[in-house]
Order: sequence, then C-alpha cells, then structure tokens
Amino acid sequence: MDTIWTRDFSAQSYPPLMGEQEREALVIGGGMAGILIARELTDAGVRCAVLEANRVGSGVTAGTTAVVSAQHATLYQDLVKSFGTEKARGYLNANLEAVRAIAERAKSLECDYEERPSLMWSATDGAKMRREAHTVQELGFPAVFTDTAPMGIRCAGAVMFPGMGQFHPLKFLRAMAEGLEIYELSAVRKVKNMTAYTDAGSVRAKSIVFACHFPFMDRRGLYFMKMH
Ligand SMILES: Cc1cc2nc3c(=O)[nH]c(=O)nc-3n(C[C@H](O)[C@H](O)[C@H](O)COP(=O)(O)OP(=O)(O)OC[C@H]3O[C@@H](n4cnc5c(N)ncnc54)[C@H](O)[C@@H]3O)c2cc1C
Repeated sequence: MDTIWTRDFSAQSYPPLMGEQEREALVIGGGMAGILIARELTDAGVRCAVLEANRVGSGVTAGTTAVVSAQHATLYQDLVKSFGTEKARGYLNANLEAVRAIAERAKSLECDYEERPSLMWSATDGAKMRREAHTVQELGFPAVFTDTAPMGIRCAGAVMFPGMGQFHPLKFLRAMAEGLEIYELSAVRKVKNMTAYTDAGSVRAKSIVFACHFPFMDRRGLYFMKMH
C-alpha cells in the first residue's frame, strides 16, 4: 500500500524465520501494536520474537493519520452514560498516560514528532460537542469548546484537547523496532500447543500475543468461525 508515509521512506528489512526456535514470548504481527508490545517485553528482559507476514508497518499502520491523542470522537459522554464517571475517568487517564509515554519516547527519536492540539468537530451538532467538552472537563482534563475550526471547515462546534501530538508513524516504528528480533515474510499459518508455524519454521513460546487483528487459533470463542 502506497501512502504519504511510505513515500521517501526506507524501511529496515528483516530475514524470514527459518527452522525451529524457542522463545519466552512471541508476537504475531509487526504493526504499531506488535512492535510496541515487543519493545516493552524486550526492554523488560523477556526474550521475544516478532513474526510478520509481510513487512514491518505495512498493514493498517502504513495508512494511519497518526494523531496521537486521548480524544476519540465524542466517546467520553457515552462512557460516562454507560459505565459511570469513575470508569470513564480511568479510561481517560489511561489514554493520557499512553499519549505521555509515546511523546516521551518519540521526542528523542527521529520521527518528526510535534506536540499539537487535537480537534474533533461537528458540522451540525454543536450541542453534542459542547456536552463532550464539559464531560471531559468534569473528568479532570482541560478540553476546550470552540465554535470555529481551522481550514474553513463548516463547524457547529468543536472540542480541542491541548498537548496531544503527531508523528511520522513509520519512522517512529522503525526506531522502536531497533534491536528487536523480527522475522518478515513469515506468515503464521497455525498455532498449536504454544507453537506458531510459518512455511519455513516454527517458534515455541510460553506466551503468544496476537497483534495481527484476529486470534485465528481454533480455540476459545470460536473466532476462526466468526472470521470465516
Ligand atoms: C485511515 C485510518 C486513520 C487512522 N488514524 C489514526 C489516528 O490518527 N490515530 C490513531 O491512534 N490511530 C489511528 N488509526 C488506527 C491505527 O492506525 C491502527 O489502530 C494501528 O495502526 C493498528 O496497528 P496494528 O499493529 O494493530 O495493525 P497493523 O498495522 O495492520 O499490523 C498488523 C500486522 O499483522 C500482520 N499479520 C496479519 N496476519 C498475520 C499472520 N498470520 N502472521 C504474521 N503476521 C500477520 C500484518 O501483515 C500487519 O503488518 C487509523 C486507522 C486508519 C485505517
């Protein structure tokens, strides 16, 4: 997939998996989720490998808009309604902590990181956006309501989160992948008895993370049938 991020970007390449291996942990999928999990595990001293079917960052991660924000549409008013204030606050704080953790790492990497406000707007429903800003303020974060949006967008109301960020996702990923044990062109065909099998090898691990969108093992939840 050719995107604005893949233009003029040279990815690091990794060899395919060959032969039988054993690791403490295995991550299936080398996108933003898989690489960040492998980074955390490796930094914590866990011997971990990543198996990627294609190339690192070539999945959804290559097509992201790369806004690093705790803002997700008008989610917070729905969270408060469905789960109450405490759970909504916990969700907000977990997201703010994630933004902070990414910013902390990104600032020291070559990934074009910039601290920017994030903005969510509605062309028609200003009241909903005002409610969202108020809800987030009540949860403890200084969201700002405004009735104008940049770039001449028609705007009935918008919510702005200060101190969020943006970066080049593939540059960030490339830096985060440095030093990890990664195998590309190594699609996992099946997982059985804590062993993942590719066409040319296998990895047995105590823990296996599915960071490839779908837990395709025929186990609990019968997910493979849902996927079919
Ligand atoms: C248009 C768009 C805009 C977005 N904007 C934002 C945004 O602004 N901010 C934000 O935070 N998020 C945004 N997102 C969401 C974000 O981009 C994704 O949540 C994130 O990139 C997903 O990462 P991932 O690692 O889960 O998936 P992917 O990047 O798709 O990685 C999964 C990897 O698993 C591999 N894989 C699949 N099957 C196997 C297998 N059997 N064996 C081995 N490997 C396998 C794939 O090849 C792939 O590389 C956006 C998404 C889209 C589509």
